[in-house]
Formats: sequence, structure tokens, C-alpha cells
Amino acid sequence: MKMVYFFDEGDGKNKKLLGGKGAGLCEMTRIKLPVPPGFTITTDVCKSYYQNGKTIPKSLWPEVKKNITKLERKTGKKWNSDTNPLLVSVRSGAAISMPGMMDTILNLGLNEDTVTALTKKTDNPRFAWDSYRRFVQLFGKVVFGVDDKKFDHVLEEAKKKQGVHADSDLNEQSLREIVSQYKQICQSHTGKPFPMHPDEQLQLAVRAVFNSWMGERALVYRDKNHITKDIADGTAINIVTMAFGNMGNDSATGVVFTRNPGDGTNKIFGEYLVNAQGEDVVAGVRTPKPVDEMQKEMPKSYQLLVSTCKKLEKHYKEPQDIEFTIEQGKFYLLQTRSAKMNAAGMIKTSVDMVKEKLVTKERALLRLQPDQLEQLLHKTIDYEQAKQYKKVAKGIAASPGAASGVAVFDVKRAVSMGENGAKVILVREETKPEDVPAFFTSVGILTSRGGKTSHAAVVARGMGKPCIVGCSEMKINSEAKQATVGSAVIHEGDAITIDGSQGDVYSGQVPTIEPQMTNDFKTILDWAQKEKKLGIRANADTPDGAQLARKYGAHGIGLCRTERMFNATDRLGLFVDLIMAKSLEERKQRLEKLQELQKSDFIQILKVMEGYKVTIRLLDPPLHEFLPNPEELINKMHRLEKQGSQQEIEETRIILARAKELAEINPMMGHRGVRVGITYPEIYEMQIRAVFEAAAELAKQKVNAYPQIMIPQVSNITELNHIKSIYNKVKAEAEAKHHMKIRINFGTMLEVVRGCLTSHELAETAEFFSFGTNDLTQAVFSFSREDAEGKFLPEYIEKEILERNPFQTLDVNGVGSLVKLAVANGRRIKPGLEIGVCGEHGGDPNSIKFFHGAGASYVSASPHRIPIAIVAAAQAKLAEKSTKTKKKK
Ligand code: ADP
Ligand code: MG
Ligand code: MG
Repeated sequence: MKMVYFFDEGDGKNKKLLGGKGAGLCEMTRIKLPVPPGFTITTDVCKSYYQNGKTIPKSLWPEVKKNITKLERKTGKKWNSDTNPLLVSVRSGAAISMPGMMDTILNLGLNEDTVTALTKKTDNPRFAWDSYRRFVQLFGKVVFGVDDKKFDHVLEEAKKKQGVHADSDLNEQSLREIVSQYKQICQSHTGKPFPMHPDEQLQLAVRAVFNSWMGERALVYRDKNHITKDIADGTAINIVTMAFGNMGNDSATGVVFTRNPGDGTNKIFGEYLVNAQGEDVVAGVRTPKPVDEMQKEMPKSYQLLVSTCKKLEKHYKEPQDIEFTIEQGKFYLLQTRSAKMNAAGMIKTSVDMVKEKLVTKERALLRLQPDQLEQLLHKTIDYEQAKQYKKVAKGIAASPGAASGVAVFDVKRAVSMGENGAKVILVREETKPEDVPAFFTSVGILTSRGGKTSHAAVVARGMGKPCIVGCSEMKINSEAKQATVGSAVIHEGDAITIDGSQGDVYSGQVPTIEPQMTNDFKTILDWAQKEKKLGIRANADTPDGAQLARKYGAHGIGLCRTERMFNATDRLGLFVDLIMAKSLEERKQRLEKLQELQKSDFIQILKVMEGYKVTIRLLDPPLHEFLPNPEELINKMHRLEKQGSQQEIEETRIILARAKELAEINPMMGHRGVRVGITYPEIYEMQIRAVFEAAAELAKQKVNAYPQIMIPQVSNITELNHIKSIYNKVKAEAEAKHHMKIRINFGTMLEVVRGCLTSHELAETAEFFSFGTNDLTQAVFSFSREDAEGKFLPEYIEKEILERNPFQTLDVNGVGSLVKLAVANGRRIKPGLEIGVCGEHGGDPNSIKFFHGAGASYVSASPHRIPIAIVAAAQAKLAEKSTKTKKKK
């Protein structure tokens, strides 16, 4: 097993083996970009370390030494030299980037002798001792696990003593004292003297980096981001010759995106610090300068930076996120990776790169993460109304979108409150990787320190959550659970609103508005529409929903739930009256009223969707869902018995009796869907008639309407035929009444296992199928969704019994097999049969990929997920294309 790759031996392809950072360094070396010489210890070594009870393979060390010798040759420096010492960084880096999750040590190789050598060699004692104090600090933290605060305290005291503010103003004397105190801290922590020999330092560092792979922070991060072993298994270690950004005012370090990750603008974007080393920028100890200023301050280096960025983009065909260091005017690249951008940035760069002929349209579509597009459908502040609210502070706009919620100053509280459904805005001085769990449970993040590349900003952007950083006028006291801005005080639980697009913090809950679609977004959707094969329809039950879906590009409605129309406040009373009706006569009277209402609903929706099919599903839930539950009614009775009128008591008693009568042990499998249609045929008859009447009316108005009627919960062809005969009767009556032919497709949902298994029988009557994958998943697993998600599913996922929640992403092996079988059997009878999908899976990119492959005609998704579905469908088609061409070759 080859355990170590010198940067000129590897390339960018094998990220699994070399880690993303290592592969990037190798690739940049290969294309002759200025990378300091170095080498990578593979992830295989890390795996073997864990497989063998945390022992490092014996043969690793000789290989490392060989590569150190090679480094010496390349740099002309010497390991542990007392004239020209070689110093390195030891950096973790897994296949997938996990920002800030694992550890890095800089300036390794320094000790009392080499620091003297470095001083003499550079004639710059401040630099040498600054490097040394950084090394001891990082080493103490990473290898020994010393609490950072102890070091910070020493540093603060030293600055006070010398009377300076910036770390970079500390003089040699102060730095010498700091180093000696740092070492003292380490020694009292471990009980041993601080390791002097670079060999020993390196061995300890390698072990520490391997250990950080299984550290709490890294574990949580991988868990939350669904990074499984087949995505990243173990970390690689990169040993890189130091480039010194802290050698004076002609030296600097920085991080840059080759394009603006917030909006995609084609201009480098980032920050830098003069006379500093890498970790300073990220940690936010000094506020870095925007990279624009470098144009004036270090024009040559700036030009080099810009041209390097162009080269990188040309090579990677993807905007990059890089780290660089300038050592006395000499420019070095220390890292590159594909830039993480928010959705707006991704969309704009996709469109721009096609225009620039950097990438093809296909690549431009494939690089998008469909799920991320939801951000673009994010809310913004209603700036008109916002004028009536008090702006309490302004910070740096770090991640766009608006969020209102309650201020919470503590990470644990933010997690528990968020999990209990509160809308939490996490307010902190700064955030650290261990705070990440709270990001998941908060709607927005606000910090008083840090810049656009601070931890909070990076993580929030990645998650698409609104974020403001560097809000320095806000003084946060997390102990006291409050923040003050001038004389104003914000307490825990107070409502605040953050505008991550402008950086404004408001007190109170500011109204927000729905987003607008940019031209670039429209362009992408247009390309995707042309590429995809699957049809995209919407789940919509109101004219507004239908309008929005159509605007987003839905071609039709795949699921119009008629019961939602009964739930509107003005209708519920009518429907309850219907349920309470004592005779068929009474029931029919009430149905007539409902029929008028449904007809007018259908007319409006069909008009909005003119030219496209609208699938109307007849009543699905059990009747008791429309009544208050018996427990509530019993409580009400108790209350009324004390103070209510006789009439009220009587009414409640009757409803209670009916509710008890209708109550079911297991409603999911109870009296619902087609079963209600068969026992109360007048309800389905009314609904079918409403559809026919709407169609007739629209035909007269010359509106192209294509309603279809869909029957839920069908398990058996006889059920379907039973309803079909009602349909036939209503159709004949309506056609006679209106003197016209009215064509309305009649189809069935497939959401019951038996229905799927007998789809060839159902296809004799059904003119279309639509998979109700929510119920079907429940049925195939025998899980009731609410119980599963509320009780055991999270633990199933944690214990990896199930990889994913099958209610979010279709279970391909189980539910998917049944889907394929039902599709094949149905199309055997009717080859062109329209087969759709109307469960929530219709808006999930992975599931969409499956349905594309399974030959579905369309998927139906909620209006806000339509753009996601369109792009995902295009990607499914493109992926299929590329596997086909690969096979041909
Ligand atoms: P992370 O994954 O947390 O970004 P890195 O390994 O990239 O950790 O390093 C942390 C910081 O140290 C970065 O700013 C990086 O550029 C800097 N750095 C790492 N190695 C070197 C080196 N050999 N010379 C100069 N700076 C370095
Ligand atoms: Mg880095
Ligand atoms: Mg269903």
C-alpha cells in the first residue's frame, strides 16, 4: 500500500484517497500553480489506524521521512536545522470538506534552537517568535486538548502589558514571554515538557489529526450533513512547507472566492490580513480587509491573485474558494475547492459560465443542487412596512433572506426551543463549530463579531439561512441572556427580525414578502424544461396555489384535494351539517349547497390551469376528521354543564355521540377514500357532478379545461367499477342537460398494496394512475407515518437501520419495486397509460430521479418545489444520457 503521495505524484481525481484538500494541492502542483512543496498521507492510513485499535502502521514513518528529505531537497531548508530550518503545517482533509471540523497545526518544527536559527536567517525576531507562539498554541490545543481560552488570556494580558491592541504589534520580548507561558500551560496540562524534536512533534501531530476524525465536532457534522462512509471515510493528512504571511507588511494571508458566492457576480470576493497567518482570518481575531483594498495596498500581488483565479476556473470549470499566502511579495496557493454558493450565486454563475463558454448548458444544469433552489423562493423583508419597525442595529449582511423569531443567546436553549417548534434567532458574539447543532434549529443567526468569511457566515450560507455577522454595536451578554444596543435591551424570548440581505436587525416581527424570480433563474428553468422528459404538475387546491405553480412552470395539477376545500372556515360548518344529517333527504339538501361551492372552486382552478390537466381527487379522509375529537367534546360538555345553556349542551351531546360513532381505532386504514364513496355514494356523486358542471360551464365560456377525476384508496377493481357506474350516470345526465359531450378522464390512485398488485385489473377501467406515495410508503412498511416520525424513525436513522426517512425520499428497493411492477402491469393492458406521482416524493430530487427511470409520465409537487422538480427532472434525464453514451463507448 502506497501510504504517502508527494504533491507531484497525485492528481485531483482521487479525493477519496487523498482527501479534497490533498487532491486539490496535488492538482494545482500538477498544473504548475505556486503551491509550497508538500505531501499527503492517505485516508487509507487513517482507516488502518482505526481498524488496528488506533495504531499507526509501522512502515508509515520511514515513508514520511523519505518525503521530508524530498522536501528538504526542493526547498533547500533542513529539518531541525540550526541555520535554515524547514517548517511545515500539518493539515487534515477528508474526501469532503468539513470546514473547521478538524484540526491544523502551523509552523511545526520550531523549538528553542530552530527559532533562533529562524531569527538569524530572517533577521526578523518578531516574526520568528510570532511563528513559535502560534505553533505552541495550535499544538497545545490540537494535540494536548488545552482549552483555547487559557492561551487567549495570556495573549490579552501581554497586549495590555505592552499597551498594544493588535497581535501583530507584539514585540519580540512580549512574544518570548508568551511562548514561555504557553509552554508552561502545556506542561501543567500534560505533566511533561513540551516536545522539542520535530520528529516527535510530527508524530504526535499526525496522531492528533487522525483522532480529530472521530472527535465530537466532526461526528456531529457528518451526522447532520448525512456524510456517510461511502462519501468520506477517514481523513488524509497534508504536510506542507510553511509559507509565511507574517513576515512583515509585504506579507499577507487571505481567503478568496473566484466569484461572489452571495450573488454570483464575476469578480473576486474575499478578505485578507497583512502580516498574519491563515488562522487569523477565519478566527476573526483581527477584522480582515475586503480584498478590493489589496488592489491599492499590494497591486502586484493583487494582479497575481486575479490571474491565478482565472487559471483555476479555466481548469476546474467551476468557481473556486481558495486560500493564499503572500510571503514577502511571493504568492502561494494553499487550498482550492469548489466554491459553496447560495442558490442565487449558483444560478448566476451557471448562466454566466455558459455565456463565457466556460461550460456547456448541460454542465451548468448538472452542477446545481435542486434542493438549494428553495432559497430563491425565500422571503425578504417587506421594506415598506419595515419603516414602522425600529431598526435596532446594523451588522454585515452575511447570508440573504429574512427571518423573524425570538432571540436566544444560548446554544443549548436554541436547540431545545427550536426542536419544540419555536422560531429561534441564535444571537452570539461569534460561533464555533460546536455550535452547529443550533444552526439547524434556528431560523436565523446573528453575531456581534467576525466578517463575511467567519464561521457563522460560512455555515449559514451553506444552509441557506439568513445571517448577520459583525454586528459590533450590539453588546451581547449570554450569561445574562440579553443584548444591549445603546439604551435598548433585547432579552431572551423577545421578537426580533434579521434581514440577512441588508444586515439590519429590527425589533419585533417585521412582515415579509414572497420572492421574485430573476431572469437568470428563468433562463435556468427554461433550459431545464427543454431538457427534461418527466412532466411536472403541482399539488394545489386553491386558485392562488395553482397560479403560483403555473408561474413556477408547472404544467397542470396532479393532485387537487377536494377535502381541503371543505376545511375553509366558511365551508366547515356546511360539511359538519352534512355529517350530522339524520336522513338521506337532509344529506342531499346539504350536498346541493356544497356542490355549488365545489363547482365554483373547480371553475377557478381550471381557468388558472387552462390548457393543462387538473386531477381532482374525490374525498379521501374519514368523516370524523371534520368533527372535533371526542375528548375535546367531553371537555366542552363538562364546561357547558357548569355554565352553558340547555340548547348548547344538547347540541354538543349530539355531536359527541356522532363523533364517538365515527371514531376509529386506526383511521389510516379505516373508513376513508373510496370506502366512504361506496357507503355514502351521494357524496361522491355530488363531487363528480360538480366537476361535470364546472366542465360544462367552462366549455360554454370557451375555456380549455381538462379536469380528471381520481379515486383514492382503491384496492380492488370492483370498488373502482362501482364508482365508475356513478360517474357514468352523472355523465349521461350532464351531457343530456347541457347538450354536449363532456370528456373527463376517470382514474385511480395507487396507494394501497393490493391496488398496485392488481394494477393490470385496475387498468381495464382506469384511464390513468397516480401513485400516492405517502400512503403507499406507510402501507409497504406497515409504518404509520406520524407514529414513525414521532417515535422511532429518528433512532432508526441514527442507528443506520434505515439510511433515510422513506417519507422524504422514496424507498427504491421496497416501495420502488412495487411501483415498477404496477407500472409494467398497467402498461401491459394500456401501453400509453398516463402514470403520475402525487405524494410528497414528487418534489424530492432523489425520488424524481427514480421516477424518471421508472417511466412515470409526470410528478406532482407543492408549488414551492416546482422549480426544484423541474431542475431535478432535467438532471435525471442528463444523467441517463451520460450513462447511455458511456455504455456505447
Ligand atoms: P481548514 O481546513 O480549517 O481551513 P487548513 O488546513 O486549510 O484548515 O489551514 C488553516 C489555515 O492555515 C488556512 O488559512 C491555511 O491557508 C493556513 N495554512 C495551512 N498550511 C499552511 C502553510 N503551509 N503555509 C501557510 N499557511 C498555511
Ligand atoms: Mg482551509
Ligand atoms: Mg393518500
